[in-house]
Order: sequence, then C-alpha cells, then structure tokens
Amino acid sequence: MDIIYIFEKNKEWVQDKLRIDPNYFSNLSKGQNPDILYIGCSDSRVTAEELMGVAPGEVFVHRNIANMVPNTDLSAMSVIDYAALHLKVKHIVVCGHYYCGGVKAAMQSQDLGILNPWLRNIRDVYRTHRKELNDIKDEDQRYKRLVELNVQEQCINVIKTAEVQRAYRDRGITVHGWVFDIHSGKLIDLKIDFSEIMENVMEIYRLD
Ligand SMILES: [Zn+2]
Repeated sequence: MDIIYIFEKNKEWVQDKLRIDPNYFSNLSKGQNPDILYIGCSDSRVTAEELMGVAPGEVFVHRNIANMVPNTDLSAMSVIDYAALHLKVKHIVVCGHYYCGGVKAAMQSQDLGILNPWLRNIRDVYRTHRKELNDIKDEDQRYKRLVELNVQEQCINVIKTAEVQRAYRDRGITVHGWVFDIHSGKLIDLKIDFSEIMENVMEIYRLD
C-alpha cells in the first residue's frame, strides 16, 4: 500500500460522511460520549471499530501488543482512569485474538530485547495457569487457551484498579473478556464471571 493513497481515501471518506449528514463533523467536534472502553491488540488484522461495527465517537480505544493491562503501564492506567472517571463508560472490554504474535512470542524462550519485560507479563499468565496449559497436548489449542487466559488475567488487572472499583461501587460498570477469532471473523464472549471476580478481587485489593 502506497501511503499517498491514504490522503485520497481520507477525502473520499469525508465526502461520504458529508453526503449522508452535512453536520457530521461539526457534531463530532462537540465532544465524545462513548459507553465502551475497548482494550485490544495492536495487530493490524484486529481493527477494533470495524470488527464491532461501531462509528466514531462510540468506543474509547486503547491498543498495545497482546492487549495487556500491566499495573505499572502509565499509558494503560491513564486510559482506564480517563474512561472510568471522566467519560464514565459503562463497559470495559479486553479483547484478545487467536494467532496473536505477542502471545506466541511469550510461549517461546527467546531473547526479544525491549519486548522481554512486556512479554514477561504474558509469561506470568502462563506460570499462573501452567497446570491447565501443560495438560493441553495440542500446541495450537494450548496457544489459543493462553490467549483466553491472558484476556481473563488482563480483565482482573482492569478490575484491580481503584477507578474501576470506585465506578463499580458508585454507578455500576462491567468488565468483559472477548476473543476475536481471526480464522472466522467472529467475536467470542468468554463470559467471564465478572461479579465473582470482583468480589474476590475487592476482598484483597479493595482500596477504600
Ligand atoms: Zn495480538
């Protein structure tokens, strides 16, 4: 893809939007009021808005390698803080995807330089669930399961944050774990028992 075409595409996109609604951009510029925070992978095949069929203004998005929520990551923590406290989103989604390069890399013992500390967070997920994972003989299935367990652990990291606990107590907020199956294009809800995790987490991590 030639980068010059992006500006042509952008012109077409602006025209398309204005054809449907002449006030589209002036309305968009008034502010955002999304109900959902989406935390997903940077993978170019997992497009957040497009796969959910949502329009600009509907979802607040954060993406990084392997949809991680490390509690020392200022970027992820700021996004969660802003979404929960100021945008007052009703839902926070952590969306992983099968065939995730980040998760795959974490499953191999390889020195990947600056990526090491980042991927170590996924290796910690493997360690936490190693019994279940080691019992899965098929490597492809084990890899897929680690993707799911990583989503679950990142949901727990979201729930551990003070802002989410406060939002849960004060106005209700829900955390969802999803996986995008690149092979079929389908979004899968892992149906993580949010309230049970919340109770357990609050017992240990309650902040006020
Ligand atoms: Zn990925």
